[in-house]
Amino acid sequence: MRRKLAAGNWKMNGTKASLAEVAALIAAHPSPKSEVLLCPPATLVAAMATAAAGKIAVGGQDCHMKASGAHTGDIAAEMLADCGASHVILGHSERRADHGESSDMVCAKAAAARAAGLVAVICVGETEAQRDAGETLALVGAQLAGSVPDGATAANTVIAYEPVWAIGTGRTPTLEQIAEVHDFLRAELVARFGTEGEGMRLLYGGSVKPSNATEIFATSNVDGALVGGASLKAADFGAILSAL
Ligand code: 13P
Repeated sequence: MRRKLAAGNWKMNGTKASLAEVAALIAAHPSPKSEVLLCPPATLVAAMATAAAGKIAVGGQDCHMKASGAHTGDIAAEMLADCGASHVILGHSERRADHGESSDMVCAKAAAARAAGLVAVICVGETEAQRDAGETLALVGAQLAGSVPDGATAANTVIAYEPVWAIGTGRTPTLEQIAEVHDFLRAELVARFGTEGEGMRLLYGGSVKPSNATEIFATSNVDGALVGGASLKAADFGAILSAL
């Protein structure tokens, strides 16, 4: 049985004052039945981990594929772990688009994350043009195959399906479309990783909000959500937690 995971991606939002939202979330949901993860900007990982006091997990939004060295501005997986992070988002479509991250690079980052003891939350998803061209399954299948390292396990790997056209747009796929992709991803994971692939959580991401969370979470092979905008406020994210 896969435990549900509600993950929030704050993206490039938040300052120390935003940690009040974490305190409010914990106060309102002292013992959530699902696992809860928040991924703030790197500048807030250490402070959020302190504020979360083990009640919710904290993650980074990216890490470098190397353990250390001359990589100005980059952050190693071990540094995130050292700050109290337990997870790291990798291969988000904004990083694939803004920073030219290929699936090969994401795979190397996931291996680095594993070496540092972090759980990798690996993102895949098609653009609107790719969906319109009927390429969705081929595209997410190729991203999955290329981005997840050999030897990945249910304990150290989470997959997030985030259609690029649904991110921050208020548009979501139909439940049938979500089920089609999640069932496909599950089959691919099981074919490659066996029982470990059966155990890996598959999150849906893209315009998840309190009003659509319940039906999305009830969809086939959806084990939780990766939430952007609606994770910034404790009231919204708390309502999504309650739907899990
Ligand atoms: P929104 O929930 O703001 O659409 O963002 C989704 C996302 O990209 C999470 O990683």
